[in-house]
Amino acid sequence: MRKGTIFNIQKFSTNDGPGVRTTVFFKGCPLKCKWCANPESQSAAVQILYDQNKCTQCHTCVHTCPQKAASLSEKGFFRHPETCNQCLQCVSNCPAEALGYEGEYKTVQEIVDVCLQDKDFYETSGGGVTISGGEGMFQPMFLEELVLALKQHRIHLAIETTGYAKPEIFKKLAPMFDLLLFDVKHYDSARHYNGTHVHNELITENLKWAIFQGIQVLPRIPVIPGFNDSLEDAAGIASLLKHVGSQQVQLLPFHQFGENKYRKLCQEYAYENVTALHEADLADYRQVFLNHNINAFF
Ligand code: SF4
Ligand code: SF4
Repeated sequence: MRKGTIFNIQKFSTNDGPGVRTTVFFKGCPLKCKWCANPESQSAAVQILYDQNKCTQCHTCVHTCPQKAASLSEKGFFRHPETCNQCLQCVSNCPAEALGYEGEYKTVQEIVDVCLQDKDFYETSGGGVTISGGEGMFQPMFLEELVLALKQHRIHLAIETTGYAKPEIFKKLAPMFDLLLFDVKHYDSARHYNGTHVHNELITENLKWAIFQGIQVLPRIPVIPGFNDSLEDAAGIASLLKHVGSQQVQLLPFHQFGENKYRKLCQEYAYENVTALHEADLADYRQVFLNHNINAFF
């Protein structure tokens, strides 16, 4: 039976689409956004987390690793990716619980069972299930199986998507959802690449296609300081939204919620000392969209 890699199933979500929802976070993403709030989502592999504050330097992880892939230095635990087979024995052997892991392999049925536990709440609140990540379309066959299984139970389905998927994959999967929460990050392809490691042409084409097909699409802009937060940026994105036929957009002010995750993954966080944005900071930014007759809201 096929398994997918996910890193969380969050119940009672209220920010990932209408009503009360269960959000299933897929692991693996084609983008590498510098500000990503879920850095554990970027790699498709199961990852080991290390908490230096808990580590007693006992070296148990090093001595018990069957692959001799673990080492310890002043900087802390290190797992050699060429030899590590992700057996996670170092995690279970660590007496100080300094090691943990991010990501699990789950079957469709295991995820459906969790989602069905709150079906009554979906029905009373107008909610459902949202696929998030990472990028769900990065595991297209598993996503398709999961969506088909959930549809049998008549559950409202949304996906938070980067829109970065091959057209044949996107055109097959996108119409299966009741709602696309579609990230739009920059109108300028070179600057899009600078922030996310991919250009934006494919994303824009997929967005335009989905809207033209009549799929319910809510474009959302993560507003990131120094990347897309100027009034000029707002005007450029508003023009892009007009071009693809969208009349609404949700603004998502930058926050620092992911900071601690970078530390545990032993990764540098490019936005470490960048101040969070709030709705009040973006009043003029929002007005640019309103001036373009695009309903912008938070
Ligand atoms: S086993 Fe755990 S506590 Fe011991 S050195 Fe390894 S990470 Fe640190
Ligand atoms: S996951 Fe397994 S192979 Fe990799 S470092 Fe830990 S014990 Fe060694």
